[in-house]
Amino acid sequence: MGLPKFNYVAPETVQEACQILEKLGGQAKVMAGGTDLLIKMKHGALRPKTIVGLRKIKELRKISFRKNQGLFIGAMALLEEVASHPKVKKLYPAVAYAASQTATVQIRNMGTVVGNICNAAPSADNIPSLMAFGAELIIASPNGERRILLENFFKGPGEVNLNRGELVKGVLVPPPPEGSGVSYQFISQRSKVDIAAVCVAAMVVIDKGRTRDVKIVLGAVAPTPIRALEAEGLLRGKKLADRSIQKAAEQASQEARPITDMRATSEYRRLMVAVLTKRALLEARQMALAS
Ligand SMILES: Cc1cc2nc3c(=O)[nH]c(=O)nc-3n(C[C@H](O)[C@H](O)[C@H](O)COP(=O)(O)OP(=O)(O)OC[C@H]3O[C@@H](n4cnc5c(N)ncnc54)[C@H](O)[C@@H]3O)c2cc1C
Repeated sequence: MGLPKFNYVAPETVQEACQILEKLGGQAKVMAGGTDLLIKMKHGALRPKTIVGLRKIKELRKISFRKNQGLFIGAMALLEEVASHPKVKKLYPAVAYAASQTATVQIRNMGTVVGNICNAAPSADNIPSLMAFGAELIIASPNGERRILLENFFKGPGEVNLNRGELVKGVLVPPPPEGSGVSYQFISQRSKVDIAAVCVAAMVVIDKGRTRDVKIVLGAVAPTPIRALEAEGLLRGKKLADRSIQKAAEQASQEARPITDMRATSEYRRLMVAVLTKRALLEARQMALAS
């Protein structure tokens, strides 16, 4: 199966890229590493007339950290660069871990974290931990920029909240609060390279022995990554005891809406949500208490 014919343009600024996207509308697609896009085109699932490559836009390659603003991951920062970045490893270990567990070393040196987000697969490895950290996306258009919480970005599998002329410039992850921990857990059925059958991220902030904040994010068990809000409610303001963690894990599994497919049955997925939520909360608690 070969690639269909397409035009390729490589703008040198974000502004230029947005203007091209505005002019061409649905006929154009942004390309970062191409590890999802080109495969979909080969399979005939996408047929853009023009690909807008971002590789010449140098500012998009940036990964930076500022104490009061947090971490910025540019749209062209590679998965491998995020996985091995010293500040990401130290301050956002769940983000580095998720990137390091995505695909293979070859794919991680082509594909990007932002591409993983914009591809909007319910199972995407990099979304849950970023959502748990409360990340926002910076979206550029010919008229300027806007921000959106990552958890509000997804409309369905492969569908995101981007308007004509817009592209994602990068992800902004707030500074981790004091006393916080974030853990990412996943399970793949077939092999290490396979995408996750279920993935979970949990974030807790512990203050004077009580859970001041908590987020539980479930992947691959609904059309988009979702928060297990009722499970979070069971923990907020309470002591994070083993028994409460078990109850929250069981509640999270009730909030999942899994399907059966080639990777797992819905029953298995539901069971694994409870197992992985418990593991994630336990690890997040340990990290929070050690911080
Ligand atoms: C063998 C193999 C194994 C894989 N394993 C995994 C895995 O284990 N876990 C996992 O989560 N994924 C996996 N993937 C999927 C893929 O590699 C990742 O999703 C990757 O991070 C995509 O990044 P990219 O830069 O290649 O995106 P691209 O393919 O360039 O883009 C993906 C989509 O996002 C859009 N897009 C990209 N950047 C932007 C932007 N800045 N603004 C707006 N839209 C944008 C594109 O138009 C396209 O629709 C695997 C893929 C392969 C081929």
